[in-house]
This record gives sequence, C-alpha cells and structure tokens, in this order.
Amino acid sequence: MGLADNLSTRNTLRLMSEAEHLVSVSSSGQLDGLLRDAPQDAAIRVLGEGSNVILHDTLPGTTIVMAIEGREVISDDGQKILLRAGAGENWHSLVLWCHHQGFHGLANLALIPGSVGAAPIQNIGAYGVEVAQWIHGVHATHRRTGRHAVLTPDECGFRYRDSVFKHAAGEDWIITAVDFELSRDAPVEADYPSLRARLTETEPTHDAVLASVMAIRRERLPDPVITPNVGSFFKNPIVAEEDLAQLRADYPELPVFAAPEGRIKISAAWLIDQLGWRGREQAGVRVSADHALVLEGCGARLATPWLALSDAIAESVKETFGIVLELEPIVMGVSMGCADDG
Ligand SMILES: Cc1cc2nc3c(=O)[nH]c(=O)nc-3n(C[C@H](O)[C@H](O)[C@H](O)COP(=O)(O)OP(=O)(O)OC[C@H]3O[C@@H](n4cnc5c(N)ncnc54)[C@H](O)[C@@H]3O)c2cc1C
Repeated sequence: MGLADNLSTRNTLRLMSEAEHLVSVSSSGQLDGLLRDAPQDAAIRVLGEGSNVILHDTLPGTTIVMAIEGREVISDDGQKILLRAGAGENWHSLVLWCHHQGFHGLANLALIPGSVGAAPIQNIGAYGVEVAQWIHGVHATHRRTGRHAVLTPDECGFRYRDSVFKHAAGEDWIITAVDFELSRDAPVEADYPSLRARLTETEPTHDAVLASVMAIRRERLPDPVITPNVGSFFKNPIVAEEDLAQLRADYPELPVFAAPEGRIKISAAWLIDQLGWRGREQAGVRVSADHALVLEGCGARLATPWLALSDAIAESVKETFGIVLELEPIVMGVSMGCADDG
C-alpha cells in the first residue's frame, strides 16, 4: 500500500523528512514480494513507530513502515507461555495484554513507545529489566537475499541498548515477529532504586510494579505527543574498571553501576549535568530541565539542530571527563551535504 511520503507524523521528534518511496508492509508475504522486486543495490529501511530515530530531510530508496500485526500463543504448559507477536504490534499494548492474561515478565517495560519489531534492535530496557531476558527467538527476513530465519537470543548478540541488528553482521535483517517466553510464575522485579522507592508493599505484585512503572514514567518523561523527544538521547557509557580510576579519584561522587563482564556503567545524565547543560536551548532544541539525558524539541523541524546540540554536549563531556558519549537513537537518511546510513 502506498503512503504519503512526509514522515513528520511518523517520528516522535516531528522532523520533516520525505521518503522517496514509502510502503506499509502488513504481512511477511508482502515483504517477500517487495524485496524480490527491489533492485539489488536499493536502499531499504524500516520504520516502526519512529520513537528512536533522527530523520534527515530525505530518505532515498524504499522506506518500509512495519505493520505486521498478530499475537498468537504458540504453547502454554500452565506455567510457561510461548507467545508470538507481529513486528508491527504496539509495544505497550502487548505489555498490557500479556499482563492481563497473566503472562508475566514485561511489566517493567510498560509505556516504552514503539513497536514490537524494534524492541530487540536496541534491546529495550527500563527499571532493571531488558527485553532480551524474555525473548525466545526473532523472526527475520534478509533484505538482500530474502532468506527467512529465526535468530536465537545468542545469535541476536544482546547487550546494553545494543544487538547484532545495529551492526554490519545483522543490519540486513528485517524483523517480522518476535517470540517471547513468558511465565505465570515470573519473579517480580522490584529492585531498581526508583521503583523500589515508589512501591509501598514489602512484597510487591506484578500489578503494583506495572502501576508504579507507568506512574513514574508519566511523571518523569515528557510525552512525545506533546513534546518532541526520543527518550534518552545518549547511552550510558560502559568502560573498563581500570579506565575509570582517575575519573573516580577526581569525582568521588560519580554515579557508577556494575555492567556485564566486570565493566562499569557511568551515568551519562550526571556527566551532562555537571557541565550545566540542563535547560539550555539552541536553535529550537533544548536539554530537558527535568532530565539531562533527554533533549526536547521547541521549534526545530530538521535533524541538524538536534545533532548540533548533541555534538556540543558530547564534545564538552569528552573534553572534561575524557568519556565518549554515544547517541542512542538511529540517524537515518541524508540532509544537504550530510549523509549517514545512505
Ligand atoms: C518518551 C520515550 C521514552 C523512551 N524510553 C525508553 C526506555 O525506557 N528504554 C528504551 O530502551 N528505549 C526507550 N525509548 C526509545 C524507543 O521507545 C525504543 O527504542 C523503541 O523500541 C523504538 O521503537 P520504534 O518502533 O519507534 O522504532 P523506530 O524508531 O521506528 O526504529 C528504531 C530503529 O529500529 C529499526 N527497526 C524498527 N523496526 C524494525 C524491524 N521490524 N526490523 C528491523 N529494524 C527495525 C529502525 O530501522 C531504526 O533503526 C523511549 C523513547 C521515547 C520517545
């Protein structure tokens, strides 16, 4: 199905961007046909709900709006449930639906904007849970060869806000569905400090966690329907313990957290805050007054001012702390004299 090619209502930064060829894909068969007919070297991109992208003015080639729906219980042994969800399903609706069926595991990830198919891309995470913990397999179609595969969690290479799909080895996969292994007996995950502080019960239930996560998010994060944003603009940097010694000596109050493989995660918000960025505005983009990791639109409709402000922040953090900040959202398309994923 053809769609209007202006993407400003299809990305949460409300950026003006035009797709050369925009097509909504609502079945795996339709995707196969589209890939078969596409020229071998054609640029083919996928857009979910546009809540983690920075779109330049033009998206050359074909942009697929992922619209494959469907939720199917593949098996249910009374305790464990294998559930398949189409990549175009809305993430939060799936979380609520699972909760109401008694299929537990995903409550901490409630209200994360976006689609099911994008969830494995950056291994969405919040309040002490990452989606990788509940993924059983990822159904994908290769955009160059048309091959179908079901990738195991190991093959997905999940890390903090990262997976194989963000790297050369996996970037050609188009996710069509995700299988989740949920549980009626999943433990309640209530240890994340801000969540724990909110919960009044000593033994919180899944209901209480879901309600608290939703309440905290509504209080703390700007609603993209009102204020253009993509949530966190930068990842929290992860460094080796030995690279942190000097920084810890200079800034004993630096918040750090244990990360896998003995590495250390640093709070990017703290670094940005130390440099006085909170609330600063530049060319229609500002650093949120409430959360130093969130940039908000206040007039900018093009990608360049967002990237200029984020570059300035990252440069100042590098200069002062020697830490490299990495963007969390994906930059797509081309602007005058400025290209990225081509
Ligand atoms: C207010 C707010 C709060 C947020 N909070 C969190 C949070 O707590 N934790 C967190 O992890 N993220 C958070 N995010 C980021 C965002 O919600 C997630 O990254 C989400 O998974 C993006 O989904 P999407 O459908 O909008 O993806 P899009 O923005 O459309 O796409 C993101 C990337 O995934 C690729 N992609 C999308 N679908 C597919 C597919 N089917 N196959 C292959 N590639 C695909 C796109 O090409 C692009 O590279 C937040 C964003 C906002 C606006």
